[in-house]
Amino acid sequence: MTDTTSTRTERTRVAIVGAGPAGLILSHLLAEAGIDSIVVDSRSREQIESTIRAGILEQNTADLLRRIDPATRVDTVGHRHDGIELWFGGEGHRIDFPSLVGRSVWLYPQHEVLKDLLALRLGAGQDLRFGVTVERVDDDGSGHPLVAGRNADGSPLVIDADFVVGADGSRSVVRPVVTGSSAGGYFREYPFAWFGILCEAPPSSDELIYSNSPEGFALISQRSPEVQRMYYQCDPTADPAAPSDAEVWEALQARVPGTTLNEGPIIQRDVLRFRSFVAHELRRDRVALVGDAAHTVPPTGAKGMNLAIADVVLLAEALRALLVERDERLIDGYADRALARIWKAQHFSWWMTSMLHSTPDASDFDHRRQLGELRSVVESEAGQTYLAEAYTGWPLA
Ligand SMILES: Cc1cc2nc3c(=O)[nH]c(=O)nc-3n(C[C@H](O)[C@H](O)[C@H](O)COP(=O)(O)OP(=O)(O)OC[C@H]3O[C@@H](n4cnc5c(N)ncnc54)[C@H](O)[C@@H]3O)c2cc1C
Repeated sequence: MTDTTSTRTERTRVAIVGAGPAGLILSHLLAEAGIDSIVVDSRSREQIESTIRAGILEQNTADLLRRIDPATRVDTVGHRHDGIELWFGGEGHRIDFPSLVGRSVWLYPQHEVLKDLLALRLGAGQDLRFGVTVERVDDDGSGHPLVAGRNADGSPLVIDADFVVGADGSRSVVRPVVTGSSAGGYFREYPFAWFGILCEAPPSSDELIYSNSPEGFALISQRSPEVQRMYYQCDPTADPAAPSDAEVWEALQARVPGTTLNEGPIIQRDVLRFRSFVAHELRRDRVALVGDAAHTVPPTGAKGMNLAIADVVLLAEALRALLVERDERLIDGYADRALARIWKAQHFSWWMTSMLHSTPDASDFDHRRQLGELRSVVESEAGQTYLAEAYTGWPLA
């Protein structure tokens, strides 16, 4: 553990732990406000740029990326999607976003977003350090919280900041100083997971297909003209290496009856567990949490990365008021404003999840009720509009 008394202390205005989408965009918005920051991440740049995660950007997220980064590839590598297909009862029901809410989403994988953001911030001279592992944050209420950790070469690091932001993901080391414990939050675990694959084959569908079938849930997504991303519901303890490729294709095809999926070599497999979490506190004194450090949503509503970025927009505004204008009102209101959106996103993610997946103890009544719920959505303009509004994203602050 780092001894903060004998180690040379570095100074910055805002210390940001984590160079994921939340930490990188926050550093950019702070720089726009003339506030310097140090961003540290325990992983290497190569690891950050190659981790496959989220893929759907809400309209406002795509607009924000275009505004802050003239070189963003969201419109060249990414693809605009004007709808999704809800698949049940052997047929698809398209939800058309532009005609319902005048907005769209963009399929642009998170690791491509991160490549753009890392190039943007490093090009702007951001103090951004890879391979630096934060061990703890100390905040004695003096207005100068300390970040303590290890540099890439193992030497100790101490940063003295005016404010510390935990953008360090779901296993946040910053969280305990805010909530009092690493687990301090509202939590729900789901009795299923997603078996995810990347495969070399052209897209099976132009838009995402969310399927509820008697066999369970499947999501047919895309990644590029040559690679598809697909998921099907599995047991949380499933071993990603266990099924043969043929068994994976059989499971997927059975969950989207009436379609024919393009099959190809499976190049990656993973099992993604489902959790919902919201930290009890998002800020204490001069330390705040954003993104997955503050909350986790199941991926069904495609909200994770978008919600992280929405937090950051609010926090950047509050930090500008605090550190430039010495106005504490926005930072005092940060948690309440962020939580209003977080709980809406939690509800949407839970709703999509529960409407589309089968639980192990589901009865025939439960399956038929789900089909009634899906019909209530697709056969009603109000139902479709709610889904379109939430999926394409509520306005940012
Ligand atoms: C396997 C997986 C699949 C996902 N799929 C989807 C999806 O399909 N759709 C969706 O919407 N969302 C998905 N998500 C969620 C989405 O990726 C996250 O919501 C998003 O990455 C949150 O961004 P963030 O910046 O808050 O955190 P992260 O992206 O997790 O970034 C946190 C960063 O902090 C760094 N860090 C952690 N601890 C330390 C430490 N002690 N010291 C220094 N650095 C540290 C990490 O290395 C990491 O780079 C997925 C998440 C995972 C894990």
